[in-house]
Amino acid sequence: MNQPNRDAFLIFGAPQIEEAEIAEVVDSLRSGWLGTGPKVARFEQNFAAYKGVAESRVAAVNSCTAALHISLIAAGIGPGDEVITTPMTFAATVNAIIHSGATPVLADVDPATMNVDPAQIEARITPRTRAVLPVHMAGRPCRMDAIRQIANKHDLILIEDCAHAIETEYKGQQAGTFGDFGCFSFYVTKNVITGEGGMILARDEEKIARAKVLALHGMSKDAWRRYSDDGYKHYAVVECGFKYNMMDIQAAIGIHQLARVERNWRRRRQIWQLYQQAFADLPVTRPAPPEADTRHAYHLYPLLIDEAACGVSRDAFMAAMTRQKIGVGVHYLSIPEHPYYQERFGWRPEDYPHAMRIGRQTVSLPLSPKLSNGDVEDVVTAVTHLLTC
Ligand SMILES: *Cc1c(COP(=O)(O)O)cnc(C)c1O
Repeated sequence: MNQPNRDAFLIFGAPQIEEAEIAEVVDSLRSGWLGTGPKVARFEQNFAAYKGVAESRVAAVNSCTAALHISLIAAGIGPGDEVITTPMTFAATVNAIIHSGATPVLADVDPATMNVDPAQIEARITPRTRAVLPVHMAGRPCRMDAIRQIANKHDLILIEDCAHAIETEYKGQQAGTFGDFGCFSFYVTKNVITGEGGMILARDEEKIARAKVLALHGMSKDAWRRYSDDGYKHYAVVECGFKYNMMDIQAAIGIHQLARVERNWRRRRQIWQLYQQAFADLPVTRPAPPEADTRHAYHLYPLLIDEAACGVSRDAFMAAMTRQKIGVGVHYLSIPEHPYYQERFGWRPEDYPHAMRIGRQTVSLPLSPKLSNGDVEDVVTAVTHLLTC
């Protein structure tokens, strides 16, 4: 199979856009109301309803990175504080901690789940530890009972990075509701998209009120009402905030994407299960099946390619998939592999051996609800061919 099976390149993480959101964006453009306004309010209401929380507990922002940054600040975290997170995440998680002024501390993952290992969290606690920031990797929930117990015992703030985990539940409870804050992403490859966008879900309404001030230049909360048509209102700047508000154009997409969240989840689950069966006899490590009494969001389908077992390196496999016109991804090279963190914190990949090995072996296959049955077959054919000697 040296010639690709397909004509068109299968783009990794392509969003599925339908007519409803196209019409809604056009409606925003025609109305002239592009910025933060009624559609952002509607998207917040719908998101809160989906997660089963009061509307006063959510705030839409322009990215999950912004959501994480603002949550840390609203939690009172800053210089001198340590925040424990995972080395198996996107750089944004760690960068948000650094931007808050705090020091990130990494706790290695459980090799079977790729999620932060609660025992490793506990081992990294010092008198300066103020918060723990787990990531529900690929949409699989972290062991939230153990993590919450550690947070309670050591009086730590708990912030969940739910960028992969809109649909995730752990023992009947929604991801993002276990601690003080849950932060969601609507980036273009995520499960619900607005192009760029994020959402903060907080336990306390007052924290959301503060987050909204921080997300809009530090202008007093009444400033949000400037985005309505009942006349000019003076505003007061009450702290030095950021420019992190979501636009109505973004919310216009999100409203219709969110309405299809369950349908898209079912389609990704179907593809995920199909891959699980199709690759059962290949010399690769497949994702661990979801744990009982949890709901996996099926955001990513990662295979581990061990060169010794597969006869091909992860990077050679990725290049071969690309030649077969199938886009693949890496989620993620472990955080200590990057030069900035090595230089600033002295981190070495070998000190987090499970995350290091996963990061060097992992490859994510296409899992978008946009995939046709034919696309899925092409992925299966290419993977099976490349890994069968
Ligand atoms: C995508 C992602 C983020 C950042 O989300 P943005 O909305 O792009 O800022 C943070 N954490 C994880 C784990 C992610 O995958």
